Amino acid sequence: MSTATAAFDLPVEYRTLENAARAVAAEFAPEAIEIRRHVIEHGELHPKLWRRFCEQGWAGAMISADRGGSAIGLLGAALILEAFAARGIVLWMPVLSNAIAHAIDRVGPDSARERWLPRIAAGTAQLGIAVTEPASGHNLFGVETEIQYTGTHFVVTGVKRVTSGLDLVDRVLVFGRTVAEDGTSGYTTVLVDPGAAGVTVTEIPMRYREGVRQFQLELDHVVLPGDALVGSVGGGLLSLWPFTDVERVLTAAICSGSAAHCLDNAVARAKHRVIAGREPIGVHQAVAHPLAHLHARHAAVRLLLRRAALGFDRADSAQTAAADANAVKLLASELAFDAADHAMQVFGAEAWDEREGWLDLYLDARLSRSGPVSNEFALNYLAEHVLGLPAR
Ligand SMILES: Cc1cc2nc3c(=O)[nH]c(=O)nc-3n(C[C@H](O)[C@H](O)[C@H](O)COP(=O)(O)OP(=O)(O)OC[C@H]3O[C@@H](n4cnc5c(N)ncnc54)[C@H](O)[C@@H]3O)c2cc1C
Repeated sequence: MSTATAAFDLPVEYRTLENAARAVAAEFAPEAIEIRRHVIEHGELHPKLWRRFCEQGWAGAMISADRGGSAIGLLGAALILEAFAARGIVLWMPVLSNAIAHAIDRVGPDSARERWLPRIAAGTAQLGIAVTEPASGHNLFGVETEIQYTGTHFVVTGVKRVTSGLDLVDRVLVFGRTVAEDGTSGYTTVLVDPGAAGVTVTEIPMRYREGVRQFQLELDHVVLPGDALVGSVGGGLLSLWPFTDVERVLTAAICSGSAAHCLDNAVARAKHRVIAGREPIGVHQAVAHPLAHLHARHAAVRLLLRRAALGFDRADSAQTAAADANAVKLLASELAFDAADHAMQVFGAEAWDEREGWLDLYLDARLSRSGPVSNEFALNYLAEHVLGLPAR
């Protein structure tokens, strides 16, 4: 029996969607390791899986029907990515593309909506994001990348420390400080072609975290046309706010699914692994209790995940949505890490055989505590904006 509890709180259409995603994920589960390898070695999403994914309308989860999307919202996207992760298939690019598509939908302009949303919905375009810098880390307000606006075009100069999937994306959303001749200040977001003149992309050896390659992005006076803009000149923060909740909730969805995958497999092994002809290792409380505890934590995380996603879709309250997005990202990443850690323990030496995939799950789970937003930043948000504690 799966360790996953029934999602009693879901409206029927979401339960149907969840079942459909679980069925497709189960079909591809035997190829999970090959799917990950294909993306890394070929610089493209696994064609058979991606075609199937797009045929279901899942690539356009957060895009409205009039732009070719399925409009199943953040809850729909979360259920799908959770279902795949629960079968060992981590789909990171849809996290970024959904989050950026949602940002473009919110802040425009129409030219960006018309150009990118139908292609993302069809699965023929992928977008990445470049915020983190060597000096400022993930602190948005300290970015040094300059986005100069001349009145007709943009000139971008700066270094982005870690950017995921640059070999897979059509454009990367670059966040930088505005330099404008009319004196407009603030921040700006523009879509940069990783193959444009003045762009240097250098791979960082990170053992393909999240199942994709990782890169440093250097931009040296990269000239972009005016239609590269997302949002408005000086309004870059407004582009990022809609992005962050989506990215956090979908990261939590993948963490929840990965935790289920670790738990299901560890439970199965604890039942069947018999050492030297004695009883299965699961009879030992040292093995069983951590699994039972993880099961209880997973049930709680799944409920919060569904509440966070549904609350976001219903737009009940932006503040509650952000609070839930940060809380669930924090708890789901801790759960995923503890589940992967205990699965490693239960699998013993087998866990260290790189062909089995456990090390990848373990390192990905560890990463989720540091990114895409670190858990300290999630806690800062909760402390300051929910609890009202003083900030430095
Ligand atoms: C595999 C991988 C993929 C990534 N992909 C992308 C990507 O596609 N796009 C992108 O923009 N970034 C990406 N990142 C960057 C990632 O978001 C950052 O690594 C992460 O947010 C932490 O920032 P940092 O590495 O600069 O750490 P630092 O800013 O150097 O911080 C180090 C530690 O100090 C803590 N800290 C810093 N300030 C505070 C504070 N005020 N309060 C409490 N704690 C604090 C941080 O939480 C962190 O734990 C990726 C990173 C990795 C490892």
